[in-house]
Amino acid sequence: MSQTQQAVTYTDAQLHARACVRCGTEDGPLERNGYVETETRPGVRLPWAVVACPDHLGAER
Ligand SMILES: [Zn+2]
Repeated sequence: MSQTQQAVTYTDAQLHARACVRCGTEDGPLERNGYVETETRPGVRLPWAVVACPDHLGAER
């Protein structure tokens, strides 16, 4: 098994800024928390503007 890729998966709600990017809560207040990238195919990365709950703000860049 390759360990080069971090196994990070996000839910549809997280990618569409409807849930905290860290814990997945949909309870507000959710604030913009930068971007995450998902790799849909090798070499194809998509940036997503994500949000976080107060406990997890600042966790992403
Ligand atoms: Zn959170």
